[in-house]
Amino acid sequence: MHLKRRIPVAILGATGSVGQKFVSLLAEHPWFHVVALTASERSAGKVYGQTVRWVQESPLPGDLAQMVLQPSTPPLDVRLVFSALDAGVAGDIETHFAQEGYVVVSNARNHRMEPDVPLLVPEVNPDHLALVGRQPYGHGAIITNPNCSTIGLVLPLKPLHERFGLKQIHVVTMQAVSGAGLPGLSSMEISDNVIPYIHGEEAKMESESKKILGTLKGGQVELADFDISAQCNRVHVLDGHTECVSIALHESVTDQQILEAWSAFEPEPQGRLLPSAPKSAIEYFDEPMHPQPRLHRNLGAGMTVSVGRLRPCPVLDWKFVVLSHNTVRGAAGGSILAAELATARGLLDRSDGGSA
Ligand code: NAP
Repeated sequence: MHLKRRIPVAILGATGSVGQKFVSLLAEHPWFHVVALTASERSAGKVYGQTVRWVQESPLPGDLAQMVLQPSTPPLDVRLVFSALDAGVAGDIETHFAQEGYVVVSNARNHRMEPDVPLLVPEVNPDHLALVGRQPYGHGAIITNPNCSTIGLVLPLKPLHERFGLKQIHVVTMQAVSGAGLPGLSSMEISDNVIPYIHGEEAKMESESKKILGTLKGGQVELADFDISAQCNRVHVLDGHTECVSIALHESVTDQQILEAWSAFEPEPQGRLLPSAPKSAIEYFDEPMHPQPRLHRNLGAGMTVSVGRLRPCPVLDWKFVVLSHNTVRGAAGGSILAAELATARGLLDRSDGGSA
């Protein structure tokens, strides 16, 4: 798809960990042009480059560094807003923007499980975008990005669920410190350590995966009916969540059938050549030491989910390891891909609440 001119966008919560990732990923984006950055009242009115504690590896883009931070309220001179707001405030602010006719693509948890809000992983449930037609916002809309560890999980599960049916899932995560936002955990807490609790994370993985892998029927999502148990841990890794997954399937299958399901996976974003869609959404590694966060988190510019160590599970049927970049695929990059899909499907052109 070729756009005549780039679409002006805003980033809400641009000073935070995910907000900064939006800034770096959108700086050179072929479709979207950042024209507004917002933060809390504490930061509004200040120059972005002098206020943000920049923790990205790429340098802060010069033109955006000069921008003055705005409060996180309408009006902003854009149609599309990316939200990286703290969940404590995101709910009401995002609703307000949608009511005022903006299309909001959010990383926060607040609206994710609402029945008329798409919880979107563009390769997994692109059809769920149609839910925006049921929202009460007219011109506006809210689209959400799942929790970062859920996104890494559902991508390799999707082709298996489609072909063989998932019966049970058990997942243990090892999650990076960048997932805790800024300033995050102190070095005294996380160095030489594993923390076996991340507030709310296990419940999010268990509920969100059923919605994402659910079926759209009669304008509603019928939740997937597998059983799922998640155990979430914070580990001393900067970026990249690793997950050890065991599954039981409705059909008896071989390892070759599972590998074939992953390699034959051809989702809509790749078919449409969306700018942020990696060539492969899922990449399988035969090498038993792979995947590893330091080696593989940036695969496909941080958008490919790496999978390895497929082997029989003595308790369920099969087990394997998944790795995905939590602030790219699991947050800003995933939201940008969702906005690209919404744009390609004409959602930004809607003049009413029609279906996407
Ligand atoms: P963060 O580093 O704590 O940043 C939060 C942002 O919200 C900052 O820009 C902050 O601005 C702004 N903010 C705080 N209070 C505000 C208020 N009262 N009004 C307006 N803005 C306010 O958090 P994060 O890790 O980037 O996460 C952002 C969101 O994405 C959260 O909802 C989080 O749950 C979700 N998420 C995070 C990850 C991850 O890997 N980190 C992954 C997926 C989803 P100031 O700088 O002015 O305070």
